[in-house]
Amino acid sequence: MDALIELRAVSKRYDNDGAFAVEDVSLDVAAGESVAIMGPSGSGKSTLLNLVAGLDRPTSGAVTVAGQRIDALSETSLARYRRQRVGIIFQFFNLLDDLTVADNVLLPAQLAGMPRATARRQADELLERLKISAYRQAYPARLSGGERQRVAIARALVNSPELLLADEPTGALDTTTGEEIGALLRELNQAGQSMIMVTHNPDLARRYASRTIQIVDGRVTGDAAADVTTADVTTADVTTARGGTIGALGARQ
Ligand code: ADP
Repeated sequence: MDALIELRAVSKRYDNDGAFAVEDVSLDVAAGESVAIMGPSGSGKSTLLNLVAGLDRPTSGAVTVAGQRIDALSETSLARYRRQRVGIIFQFFNLLDDLTVADNVLLPAQLAGMPRATARRQADELLERLKISAYRQAYPARLSGGERQRVAIARALVNSPELLLADEPTGALDTTTGEEIGALLRELNQAGQSMIMVTHNPDLARRYASRTIQIVDGRVTGDAAADVTTADVTTADVTTARGGTIGALGARQ
């Protein structure tokens, strides 16, 4: 089976003479997988996610998503890739406070040129599915953290991206709400949505992802399926990463 994501000898350093944020990473992610990327703060998790998101380019190596070499795309093609092929959610939701919930969700569809009626239908369906349709005319400031993350997930999915990327999706939520969002992400994955989630939360990785990749100092140090038979091993592996928080670095627009 063709991989949805192929990284080949991918390295990234932000300064020519600085350390590598990501170093010589090669890995494949198949369509339908749900992958957690774990590691201590500063280990390169967000950088790796940003490289797959097309928010940043590798210093060397090849990043291929859905058959497309995204490291080689022009800025215009890369912007189109980001609009159409990937959806991204962040720790702090990154909603636009001046827009209603419905308009936040509609915006990426409008930017991608989706016909208005289709975009509305798609947005309404997502708001329904994510159980936030009661808030469609509300402004994000009135919503709880969990509700805001649901809106952000709806916004990320409105263009039906092949890939959902999540950078610490529960990092700003209390435990119960974090579990709800984790369960929701797992449901989306079970319905076929491929996803990669950066987290320093071992429980989230073990319970809601099907595979966990460990990163230390920019290098992959572990890669294990999180099924029933390996769940305990995975938990032991990831415990070393407990306690890290990600820095809000990287090119996020
Ligand atoms: P993590 O997500 O695991 O916390 P990051 O990918 O944010 O790690 O960071 C990996 C390394 O790259 C860190 O040393 C960080 O300081 C550095 N880094 C990340 N983004 C930038 C940037 N935009 N400019 C310079 N250095 C950066």
